Amino acid sequence: MTKKIGLVYGGKSAEHEVSLSTAMAVIKAVDFARYEVHPIYITLDGEWRTGPQLTAPVESLEQLQFTREEKKPNTINEFIEAHNTIQFDVIFPLLHGTNGEDGTVQGLFEVLNIPYVGNGVLSSSTGMDKVIMKQLFEIAGLKQVPYVYFIRSEWQKNQQDIVAQCEQLTFPLFVKPANLGSSVGISKATNREQLVKAVELALQYDRKVVVEQGIVAREVETAVLGNDEPQVSVAGEIKPMTEFYDYDSKYKDGSTALVIPAELAPQVAQQLTDMAKRAFKILDCAGLVRADFFVTAQDEVLINEINTLPGFTPVSMYPLLWQNTNVSYPELINRLIELAVERYDEKQ
Ligand code: ADP
Ligand code: MG
Ligand code: MG
Repeated sequence: MTKKIGLVYGGKSAEHEVSLSTAMAVIKAVDFARYEVHPIYITLDGEWRTGPQLTAPVESLEQLQFTREEKKPNTINEFIEAHNTIQFDVIFPLLHGTNGEDGTVQGLFEVLNIPYVGNGVLSSSTGMDKVIMKQLFEIAGLKQVPYVYFIRSEWQKNQQDIVAQCEQLTFPLFVKPANLGSSVGISKATNREQLVKAVELALQYDRKVVVEQGIVAREVETAVLGNDEPQVSVAGEIKPMTEFYDYDSKYKDGSTALVIPAELAPQVAQQLTDMAKRAFKILDCAGLVRADFFVTAQDEVLINEINTLPGFTPVSMYPLLWQNTNVSYPELINRLIELAVERYDEKQ
């Protein structure tokens, strides 16, 4: 029997465009004999629009953006009405960042009692907050770089103290908004003046900021797939050609080389697998996660972060890692849908 899949993409997020390209790629790869595909587009204003069922891949991004004269910001009525009529079997959220990867839409699907691909409310929201995530990693005994964090009002009141605290770490420092992804609002600071500027920038994106000690290391990632007994892919290395793996090198200029599998000593590869599983477990993840690490010249492994809805275009790290672990892109889509149903059934 064909399953009715609701593909949710776009979103009120800085990563709206990325999400659109992901949707296009998934539609291209999905098995239309097996799935009825229903597009659900969230505009930049946060309005949910449902389009007609798709029976073939789309030619352009415009076909996925249902533009209308009339604007009804922040409404999900159209989606709920569509669900009442269609009764989606599974929702596949292809969203990144705020309102997509942070547990809020996952909460909506929970309330509507619809199975959905990937992480639940808890793992999504804890994975979105770099500070909470780090605190959980600490509990799991996962090694990471030293860091400091604070909120906007603390910065406004005690800037000098906070700067002093940050300077306990060794420059360069990486300053990040706690709740974004795709390197948005992140900067590297090599002195006090830059640190203050970097914090002011990060505070434009979030009320909570994390300042990390910079590390000179290789960036290596693994892909995790599964529910209670997750599998971990081979590792891949990112070789940024820019100062760091920033937004443009991730999505725009392609100035990043991915090396899969990464050249690693067997015990390092094993350590990455173990750490990825522990990270997955401590956040109580489901479906998929990309776990990102730093590997130093001395083969010390530190966890950087996990991403609960990693980039999912065919040239993104997550699908490429699986492709190199003998799971093709279309198979990966099937597997994620099965895992969503399995997790939902288990909860009933
Ligand atoms: P995002 O969730 O936006 O991907 P990350 O924490 O992964 O944020 O940071 C983005 C990039 O910045 C990393 O991939 C890495 O290139 C660089 N970076 C971040 N933190 C550090 C650090 N502590 N030391 C060195 N490089 C870092
Ligand atoms: Mg991230
Ligand atoms: Mg990252």
